[in-house]
Amino acid sequence: MLAEKVIPRWIAQQMTGIEWTDFSGNGWTVCTRMAASHGALSACEICYAATFAESRLGLEWGPSVPRHPFATFAERMRRIDRAALRLGLRFAIFCNSLSDWLDAEADPVMRGKLIDVVESCPNVNWLLLTHRPHLAKKLLPSSWRSAPPDNVWAGTTIEHPAHAFRWDQHAEYWGHTGRAWVSAEPLASSLAGIKFDGAAVIIMGGASNTRDPAWAFDSKWIEEGVEQWGEDRLFFKQHGVFRDGVYVGDKKKAGRDFAGRIYDNTPWPRHRDLLSQAA
Ligand code: SF4
Repeated sequence: MLAEKVIPRWIAQQMTGIEWTDFSGNGWTVCTRMAASHGALSACEICYAATFAESRLGLEWGPSVPRHPFATFAERMRRIDRAALRLGLRFAIFCNSLSDWLDAEADPVMRGKLIDVVESCPNVNWLLLTHRPHLAKKLLPSSWRSAPPDNVWAGTTIEHPAHAFRWDQHAEYWGHTGRAWVSAEPLASSLAGIKFDGAAVIIMGGASNTRDPAWAFDSKWIEEGVEQWGEDRLFFKQHGVFRDGVYVGDKKKAGRDFAGRIYDNTPWPRHRDLLSQAA
């Protein structure tokens, strides 16, 4: 009852299903798939955003295709930011879940608008995720190089150990903030021995957008993660559509428990319990 009084229904209804954030928001969609390193798998091959944009929005996806802006993005984000201030709740927003904010083919004006929105919303935490950490220096404002906004948490996707080099590129730009993180989701192979020094959190999970058994998540990768990163730095999102090598077809059915536990830590606050009570 308390949550219903505190959280307006309109805002609760906008909560995303992505467990490590409260909301998602997109300045644009459409992107170009990145090739896998030799012998690896690339998450781009099974990109959920591409499937969504093609099947639900009727858009093309790939190189030289115009990126598709969302007209309501700025106003919606600013509304959530104002609500965060009013409620005293620092919401988390995963920005550009349907594209890559450091996609070099995205119109610079469009990226500039996204950056304006981020800078004009200081009351939320921004979670920005990229496959292209090497482009931060080139594409971001020079003022961000030494002092990015302190409510930006920048992550990079590492879905296979052959792509672990992205962490070094990412840490070179963001490491000094203490707010750099890794998304190892969907994960295609063990990350044993990869330390991710300085990462604030490693979000790990299995694929939910493919029947290809090459993407089946192996539960022992969770044990490896706990051992080498510590459970406080691990967020286990989901087994995916496979559980213990068996295709179950539904990530909710496969669950996110392991050995009776849920690994649910993020260094940024989330308010999903309050939001879901009010929805
Ligand atoms: S970089 Fe991200 S949004 Fe772009 S194709 Fe790859 S997985 Fe999809």
